[in-house]
This record gives sequence, C-alpha cells and structure tokens, in this order.
Amino acid sequence: MPTQLSSFIKEISDNHYEMFVDNHMLSTFSVCPRMFYYKHIQNIRAKGGPSFYLSYGIWYHHVMEQFYDRLTEGFDVEQLFVRAAKLWQDENMNSFRETDPKRFDKMVGAYGALNVGGEYETPVSALTMVKQYYDNYYELDRRAWKIISVESGFGHEKEVKLGGFANDFCDVDFYYLGRPDLVVEDQNNHIFPVDHKTTDRIKSGMDDRFKPHSETAGYIYAIQSILGRTEGIDRCVINSCAREIPAKSEDSRFKRIHPFYSQDELLEWKQSAWEKCRGIFERCFYHEKEWPMHESQCFQFNMPCEYHQIDKVRPAARETVIQANFVISDPWSPYKKEVVENA
Ligand code: SF4
Repeated sequence: MPTQLSSFIKEISDNHYEMFVDNHMLSTFSVCPRMFYYKHIQNIRAKGGPSFYLSYGIWYHHVMEQFYDRLTEGFDVEQLFVRAAKLWQDENMNSFRETDPKRFDKMVGAYGALNVGGEYETPVSALTMVKQYYDNYYELDRRAWKIISVESGFGHEKEVKLGGFANDFCDVDFYYLGRPDLVVEDQNNHIFPVDHKTTDRIKSGMDDRFKPHSETAGYIYAIQSILGRTEGIDRCVINSCAREIPAKSEDSRFKRIHPFYSQDELLEWKQSAWEKCRGIFERCFYHEKEWPMHESQCFQFNMPCEYHQIDKVRPAARETVIQANFVISDPWSPYKKEVVENA
C-alpha cells in the first residue's frame, strides 16, 4: 500500500492501483521532487494571492476562451470589449495598481481608464491588446480554423494511457489528464492544440523555447490517443501575446509559433512521462521521506522558489515555517470536463 496514497492514486483492488497525472504535476516533479512533495502530497501553498503575472495570464486565457467559444457564431469587437472588461474586473486586476504598482505600470502602461458600457474600469492598453488581437485574427481564424474544443478537459475516462509497471508487491497503470486551451482543425485536415501564452515582449529566438515542450507534445499525443489515429496530428500552435506595448509601432504584439513533432519524438515524450510517473509512484509507495531537493532550481530568474523559505532553514525548524507562512489548499485537480469532441 502506498505510504502516501494521494488524491491522484486510486486503489482499484488488492495491490492494483491507477495513477492520474497532468503536465503540471510531471513538470513540477521534473523541476524538483521536493517541490512536488510540498505541492501535491502536502498540498501547501504560500499565504497570499496570485502574482500580477499569473493573474494577467489567467485574464488573457479567459479572454481567449470567450473569443474562440463564440468564433463560429460570430461577434463584433464591442462585444469582446465588454467581456474582456468584465473579466478584468472579475480577476480584480486593478488591485495590482496598489499591491504591485511597478509591474502593473510596466505591463499595462499609464492607467488610462476606459469605461466600457459605463460599468467596468479597464486600462486602455489591455483593451488595445484585445482590439489588436481581434483585428489580426478574427477573420483569419474564422476562415482557416474549425473549432473542435475550447478549454475541454480529457483523461478522467482513462483515454490516454501512459503505460504502467508491476513488481512482486503491486501493479499500477498511469493515465494522463489535460485541458488544452483550444483544439482546432485547419483546411488541410490537420488537428492540433493551440496554447495561449503571455510574455513580456515578443523576442527574437523565442521559437526555440517551445520545442521540446512537454505540455504541447503531451496534448498532441493525447489527441492521437483519443481519436485513435496519428495521421494529420503532428503539430501545435503557440499563440503568444506580449503584455507590454511594443516600443516601436511596427513591432508586433503577437507571434504564432508552429512546432512539429514526428512520431518518434512523441514516443520520446511518452517514455519521459512514464519515467516521471514511475518516480512519483515509487516515492508515494515506498519512500515516505525521499523527495530529494534539486538545489539548482531554488532560484529561477533571480526569483526564489515558493518553498525556499522552508528549505533554507534546518529540518527541525521547517514545520514552524509551514505553520506560519503556508496554508493547506485543495488537492490539484483542474480538469473536470469531457473528452475532445466533434472531431
Ligand atoms: S526551495 Fe529548492 S529544494 Fe526546495 S522545493 Fe524549491 S526548488 Fe526544491
């Protein structure tokens, strides 16, 4: 029996288990097993709300969800403005003007308020971005893309199996969960996931950042598994948007990157995902204490890891830090929705 039977491991019968993981869990384990332990076994989070960067990304994803949910039926830019402004308010984005003014001003520029529909106070720069996106992509995507699904989850029906393993004590099957931002079919019958990303600026050389890229490779593999074929399912689109207004008017605020994956590259992804699953399961099953630290990951871009304040003190003092500065949150379970539909 696992010493740490978790929300993502189910005991099906005596010594037979199923484990469900998503990209976030596998990436966290890959970055640092100790981080995985804090996030997904202890389920602790630092006190305080999300950062401005994270909230801006969430807002942008919601705007994209509204955009593509209604793309087939059609809408005008004024309708999108109202929805984007309402979402800005729902995310309480203007509060960052007080709590994180440096980042707020850098990302949204001077606080030029615009009352859309007389109701929601939203920075002009945010709505300018929405308008620019509409002008660039509304007609183009309506012509070129058939929308298959928007923010639809998969995996709870065990559609995407990553393999399993068995020994003298137990056997386990691993399953993959996910929720692509968007899945579309183009005019050449290619079906692919579209991943919305926000970044400070559109930079030269950013194409290389997205291959290999475990999230999109996993989605391509998952779409193949769900549809039961590989033909025409070998690519993705990274749909990136700059938070900052470009310094020069001729510079673009958007960039679409089109990574391709061969079948052997996707199998490489699957093998890597399986290795991580096994590493997670074995630690849950056998080794209660062995979640090693990856010290090289404690600072990324000069920012400390969320759990650095725990691991920087001696082991005997860590529980005190956790009690003072962390809260227990619900187990990570973001995907509730149905499989890819209508393909
Ligand atoms: S502080 Fe370092 S060792 Fe601790 S969880 Fe974060 S990355 Fe891992």
